[in-house]
Amino acid sequence: MSGPRRAAGVDLGGTKIHSLVTTEEGRVLGEDRCLTQAWEGPDAVIGRIVSSLRRALEAAGLTTQDIVGVGISSPGPCDPVRGVVTNAPNLLGWHEVPLARLVSEGLGVPALLENDANAAAYGELRFGACRGLLHIVYVTLGTGIGGGLIIDGRIYEGASGAAGEVGHIVIDEDGPPCNCGSRGCLEALASGPAIAREAAAALEAGRSPLLAELVGKEQPTPELVLQAAVQGDATAREIIERAGYHLGVGLTGLLNCFNPQALILGGGLVGLGDLYLGPAVRTARERAFAQIVADATITTAELGERAGALGAAALVMENAIR
Ligand SMILES: [Zn+2]
Repeated sequence: MSGPRRAAGVDLGGTKIHSLVTTEEGRVLGEDRCLTQAWEGPDAVIGRIVSSLRRALEAAGLTTQDIVGVGISSPGPCDPVRGVVTNAPNLLGWHEVPLARLVSEGLGVPALLENDANAAAYGELRFGACRGLLHIVYVTLGTGIGGGLIIDGRIYEGASGAAGEVGHIVIDEDGPPCNCGSRGCLEALASGPAIAREAAAALEAGRSPLLAELVGKEQPTPELVLQAAVQGDATAREIIERAGYHLGVGLTGLLNCFNPQALILGGGLVGLGDLYLGPAVRTARERAFAQIVADATITTAELGERAGALGAAALVMENAIR
């Protein structure tokens, strides 16, 4: 292969598969999106990943001959060293699936696997909010709260690739139960479902009339809680601010532990804006060590839904250099 180095990246999500082909500079040459349809099981989904990658190549006007490989960003937990999805709660029937090998065989190019939060962190490092930096903490805020740690320019994997589960830092030792089996984790106090749970309790107690009107017979969502808050519902406002405060307590611990150059906040809940992020950033700045606060830029992610696929593609290109 001659000419500029290019790679494909694919982000496997519980709902969507997003493939792209990129240059070394992060310029996206072709893209494809399709539904995961996870209920059909791993074989069908892997077939769709390969087809989606082929369509992204076609959109770029390229073939597999033109890329160094494909990087796969997958929901955790997964083992990047073996290229295996060990157990993905959002993907039905995925236990010990050798995803990197299967995609590599399907497409006929080398493939590597990285968990989605780490891949997104790496994407932001190479092409996004923290280009040129070495020490980064990336936190993704949504249905779950995940994280990626980059130390000395490299993803910190831990003993078995499971490092960076920042959503399961315990914030309140007696707090609400968490999906992981513990209690009072950051995810149980500051995620989308945590906001929805508090809103449901407020509705039940009749404390949030405006939200009750917006929600009707449906279940409350973080977006509806925000809408109620913006329209003057004091309880809705308190719920979001409280979740933001809890997030800030978690961020304080991360800042003090890692002394990063940048703390990047990504994921869908960033859309809640200042009402959520304001208390989080304020709390972290007030509580973390002054020098550590001075060292860290706290900012939102830049790459949006492309972060995981771009980060995984960048990892492939770098692997090919080594
Ligand atoms: Zn937990």
